[in-house]
Amino acid sequence: MTPELLDGGVWRIPLTMSFGPPYINVYLSPCPEGWMLIDAGMPTAQAFDELASALAEIGVEPSGLRHIVATHLHPDHCGLAPRLRDLSGAKIWMHRADADLLLKLKSTRESQEILAKAMEEAQTPQALRGPVLATYEKLLAAFPALSPDAYLEDGLELESWLGPLRVLHTPGHAPGHCCLWAAQFGYLFSGDHVIEEISPHIGWLPGEDALGSYLDSLDRLDALEVEKILPSHGVPFESLREWTARAREHHAGRAAEILRLQQDGADCVDDIIRRLWPRELRPLDYKLALTEVLAHLEHIRRRVRT
Ligand SMILES: [Zn+2]
Repeated sequence: MTPELLDGGVWRIPLTMSFGPPYINVYLSPCPEGWMLIDAGMPTAQAFDELASALAEIGVEPSGLRHIVATHLHPDHCGLAPRLRDLSGAKIWMHRADADLLLKLKSTRESQEILAKAMEEAQTPQALRGPVLATYEKLLAAFPALSPDAYLEDGLELESWLGPLRVLHTPGHAPGHCCLWAAQFGYLFSGDHVIEEISPHIGWLPGEDALGSYLDSLDRLDALEVEKILPSHGVPFESLREWTARAREHHAGRAAEILRLQQDGADCVDDIIRRLWPRELRPLDYKLALTEVLAHLEHIRRRVRT
């Protein structure tokens, strides 16, 4: 996949993924002292080689990287960041909520325990619990043990050739997810918050209304005059407000479906999952389905309470 030059001197560089969508876009923008990389790719030799040859093609030395901005903690977004920092001395930026979560994921077994408990409460069949936990362990191993050099904060502005890039804290997919807004070009670097053909996965943590946060984050974007969305997966696209309207509709429809299934006698989360996806789910898909349903149930509970 070849890098694509966008107006304003920004490059979109697709890098191969080892799971999930086929590739992640990282974006390279000139900044006052060198280059800024928005997201960094999976921590694999293939992604590193692809990035190195893209940089060579563009004519950028890896040592010219000054800033690596991770939109969030997932390994396709920050996996290569530590290696690139070692090569260049670039500063890694991440939101504190994701930096804290990443530290917890790498240094404790809390998230495995949360998943095991969630499957017990969901009445997931015993035979499936082991494979789901094993897949999750594998996924966790891909997260880099990384502490950022600086924290992204809502409202902060990073200097680039596109003009100031304003940080928008958009929790939901991850608690510290951030988008970057280049007002002069109408560019929204949307990370995994807005992706054209996919309904972004909603992160779930017990007792937190991640879906509510996600929907609030969408509302904020509607106030911007966005010309082009530069997502982490898929190709750049336009018409943000049509997309956000469809996303709201999708989640309202899913919540209504879950309530209907409960009224029809679905008596546990596993039952809801089987009725929503009536086919054999691979362990990773089951885990994603579980967190999706739990995020909706938590959101429904909050809405009923308030
Ligand atoms: Zn992600």
